Amino acid sequence: MQKYIAQLNEAQREPVLQKDGPMIIIAGAGSGKTRVLTIRIAYLMHQGIDAFSILSLTFTNKAAREMKKRISDIVGSSEAKNLWMGTFHSVFARILRSEASLLGYPSNFTIYDSQDSLRAISGIIKEMQLDRDVYKPKQVLSRISNFKNSLITVKAYFNDPDLQEADAMSKKPRMGELYQKYVEKCFKSGAMDFDDLLLKTNELLTRFPEVLAKYQNRFRYILVDEYQDTNHSQYLIVRALSDKFQNICVVGDDAQSIYAFRGANINNILNFQKDYEGVKTFRLEQNYRSTKNIVEAANTIIDKNKVKLDKIVWTANDFGPKIKVHRSMTDAEEGRFVASTIFEQKMQNQMTNGQFAILYRTNAQSRSMEDALRKRDIPYRIYGGLSFYQRKEIKDVLCYLRLVINPKDEEALMRVINYPARGIGNTTIEKLLVAANHYKRSIFEVMQNIDKIDLKLNSGTKQKLLDFVTMIQSFQVINENQDAFFITDHVSKKTGLVQELKKDATPEGMAKVQNIEELLNGIKDFTEGQKEIDGARGALSEFMEDVALATDLDKDTSDEDRVALMTIHLAKGLEFPHVFVVGMEEDLFPSAMSMSTRSELEEERRLFYVALTRAEHQAYLTYAQSRYRWGKLTDSEPSRFIEEIDAQYLEYLTPAENNYRYKPMIDSDIFGDVDKSKLRLAKPANGTPPKPSANGESRSDVSVRKLKPLLDKGPLGTANLFDNKLVAGNVVMHERFGRGQVLNIEGGGADKKAEIKFEVGGIKKLLLRFAKLDII
Ligand code: ATP
Ligand code: MG
Repeated sequence: MQKYIAQLNEAQREPVLQKDGPMIIIAGAGSGKTRVLTIRIAYLMHQGIDAFSILSLTFTNKAAREMKKRISDIVGSSEAKNLWMGTFHSVFARILRSEASLLGYPSNFTIYDSQDSLRAISGIIKEMQLDRDVYKPKQVLSRISNFKNSLITVKAYFNDPDLQEADAMSKKPRMGELYQKYVEKCFKSGAMDFDDLLLKTNELLTRFPEVLAKYQNRFRYILVDEYQDTNHSQYLIVRALSDKFQNICVVGDDAQSIYAFRGANINNILNFQKDYEGVKTFRLEQNYRSTKNIVEAANTIIDKNKVKLDKIVWTANDFGPKIKVHRSMTDAEEGRFVASTIFEQKMQNQMTNGQFAILYRTNAQSRSMEDALRKRDIPYRIYGGLSFYQRKEIKDVLCYLRLVINPKDEEALMRVINYPARGIGNTTIEKLLVAANHYKRSIFEVMQNIDKIDLKLNSGTKQKLLDFVTMIQSFQVINENQDAFFITDHVSKKTGLVQELKKDATPEGMAKVQNIEELLNGIKDFTEGQKEIDGARGALSEFMEDVALATDLDKDTSDEDRVALMTIHLAKGLEFPHVFVVGMEEDLFPSAMSMSTRSELEEERRLFYVALTRAEHQAYLTYAQSRYRWGKLTDSEPSRFIEEIDAQYLEYLTPAENNYRYKPMIDSDIFGDVDKSKLRLAKPANGTPPKPSANGESRSDVSVRKLKPLLDKGPLGTANLFDNKLVAGNVVMHERFGRGQVLNIEGGGADKKAEIKFEVGGIKKLLLRFAKLDII
């Protein structure tokens, strides 16, 4: 432990050693806030604090996993696995499951994703016969989300004339009614949306003092990363839980507050001192992440903001290369510049794909980047698009599974009641809906009792409804004793989903079938992983909990070497050696929708600060003089943010006037009629021409290609790689069981097992294909 503390600088060490009381660490990007939190938790445990009593809230599940892994390295994984660590949503979903009955919810409540919420709202808008052009479902959902995050319940809404007037002014006088119907619909479906997870936690903690006391006593130490982006609802939860022991440590950077549009309240950080008594404030000033050029350029940017806490950020790192600015004619050309730069860097400096990130303001910008990367055969991964679990064919399977767990789930039911087609038409469905509203029951319950209710349905239709009920019930019976894999496989076959998809022999159709296979593979991994834990059987409900809260940033892809593409919002907290911030144009960044007030513009500027400070070594800012936006070629001007950076930190790759017509450093192939030697001459002086290998593959591509067959053997890269090497006598580290020694190896191939004696937990036999082991 002492070793880790010694690695911290003086300013970082202080908050780690300060064990008790409220404290706040305010510091700029890359100064080690997250690292301090990590070491602090390890040190608390080292001092004998029970892992079960430490609650740590992070911005993504991935961040939580990484933190847990580092802590495991320090204190051992058997202890670290007991930490309460995750996003607000995942931690409080877990708590809500065990307390759901108090709020009138089943413990197997469904978590609606935003697609489900939108469908539900669209349904209500239709029922209420409102104009969809006035009541746009997305806007309605966002308004409701704001209510919830500000803890404005339906009742509070109807007691607040100002809110009602505001909605009436924006021509939506029936917003309150809509809100009420949405809440009722979710409740009847036994479902909570994302915002409910926070709202209901607040309700739980305020309405039931004994529950509050229980969790206050449980969480003696509470830590929050990225505190600047907490919303009011999250703030109140933290406040309530920490009220008894007041051992609360929050870290954040007001300059990186970028979620105001989703209700984040920067005042939470500014007012922290007032909320608790005797708050200790710590400041970190040394940045370890980035070069001097990047740190100082970022300082000059944030200086332009008026609303901020004064902070110093400096670094002992080298000056490093200047920030490179590149102008191109079109967005397509911008993409080619980025792709060819990555290609050249990989060749010249032996860099891997994973060392590059391309960040943009809006998701739509990824397309031109993708096209260019594909042409260069550069593997990439987009974060934050439609996640795997939201693809239509996957979601269809998941909706059947949701019904198995919670048949009241109305959105799931509506989605699959007649898919694959089984002759249950819209008129029938509407009748069911009316009856469900009338009896205040779920549609599924109405269907169960269809013989007793007179809905003027013919006997054939009634039979079809009963068949559906019987099918779901038969799945439920199977689910009682089988694992998630078995039931999913069964459901995808018995419902006819897979057969339906197989009818479509186009490549898209085949891809869908493959996606379902991929889903099954993922579930297999999950169940096998769960079975390593004593007593767990890899139940469907456990899997569905993971899925409901998974964002694709959370996916563990550490074994894949890919360029990362994501919005700047998603990149918060992350770092990469080379970062491209693309689309540096007025109206795009800063966004046209966010520059009508000073505070909006300041939030955009903070967003730029976040983008730039993700880079460790080299940052690129690129812009195009025209780009396709909403299907139209639009002229654009360079972003004001480029000008705001002191010129000494910048290097213009496209300095001379008009030289953009000759497009330096581009993939010249598509300009076949242009004299290529001229294009090469236009390259900047410091750029040596790339030396492509015979097949255009870089060294890292070659190594990835060689590794691929090995990695493909099984789901877990590392385990499989040394799978063959593991022999009796090896000392290994297991993610959950900690350190152990291999006693015996038996079986071969996919069935190869190791008998391992763990220091804690005794002898266990593990299937090597799934065991997460490292030889130490
Ligand atoms: P952000 O504001 O972007 O979330 P942060 O303040 O959380 O940044 P970290 O991510 O904790 O910063 O640290 C930035 C980088 O600096 C990491 O790679 C971290 O390992 C490294 N680092 C932090 N402190 C030290 C230190 N004392 N010695 C060496 N490296 C350090
Ligand atoms: Mg951080």
